[in-house]
Amino acid sequence: MNALKNKFSNSKNLLCIWHIEKNIFSKCKEYFATENDWIEFLQDWNSVVKSRSVNGYDSAWGKLTLKYHHQEKVINYIENTWLPFKEMFVSAWSDNYLHLGCKASSRVEGAHSLMKKYLQASTGNLKIVHERICSMIDQQISEYQTKMATELTTIPLSVNSTIFGLIFNKVSHFAIRKIHEEYVKFKKATPDNPLGPCPCTMISTMGLPCKHVLETMEQNGELITLESIHEHWHLKRKTSVPNSELNVTNSIETLLQKFKNNYDSWTSWEQTAARKQISVLIDGPTLPILDPLVPVTRGWPIYIFL
Ligand SMILES: [Zn+2]
Repeated sequence: MNALKNKFSNSKNLLCIWHIEKNIFSKCKEYFATENDWIEFLQDWNSVVKSRSVNGYDSAWGKLTLKYHHQEKVINYIENTWLPFKEMFVSAWSDNYLHLGCKASSRVEGAHSLMKKYLQASTGNLKIVHERICSMIDQQISEYQTKMATELTTIPLSVNSTIFGLIFNKVSHFAIRKIHEEYVKFKKATPDNPLGPCPCTMISTMGLPCKHVLETMEQNGELITLESIHEHWHLKRKTSVPNSELNVTNSIETLLQKFKNNYDSWTSWEQTAARKQISVLIDGPTLPILDPLVPVTRGWPIYIFL
């Protein structure tokens, strides 16, 4: 965590909630007499982790300590080991950041375990290891292409509202289902059971329109646009401009003007990302190293380093 703080000082570091639960399992499960007691405790712990506000967190942790006051070792372990880092995994704090639903590293662990399955043993020679890793990658590319083809040509079952018309086959099924859950919440709201206040964490954490945004869109007769959804969920993302097409002869004034024109049309998270990149250029210690220019001469090439 110290390395992250030094090298990625502008980034927010979250802790994996799956690993925290795994550690609590190994340190605390022995103090629970039955499996049901343990499951009940985990549910109470999850209520603490999923607290949406600081007050909610205080209340959930207070209830847990009261209920398990006889489990002194368990409470002490969590209090001393994990609560000092609560801002890095409890929703009340972690949901202030765009994490796109990634609060656990179990997917990466899954990829590691998959590779181990393909390798089968730790004694393979370089050729065998290379062939097996290639075979795993080919299989994954094939699965990805099949899934992408499905998402580009089908629409998720049960999502049939016209408000989704512009984003079908342009945004992942997962994102459409998430937006649909918000849409159902907005549709189910009544004067006795209103939507409640916004801003919701759906926009700040997932980059997806929340029930309030959907309500406004429907009232204005608008459809959900691709621009209202974070690019992470787009099936076809903007590709970066190849180096060969970048025009480095433009003056700084022309570049700044072009930047300003584009900036105004970007979404808020694109604008934030751009400001961060500019800050790094201004405050960063060094400029990136460029390939050397190679002048055309009749003799051996002479490299010029900038
Ligand atoms: Zn909202």
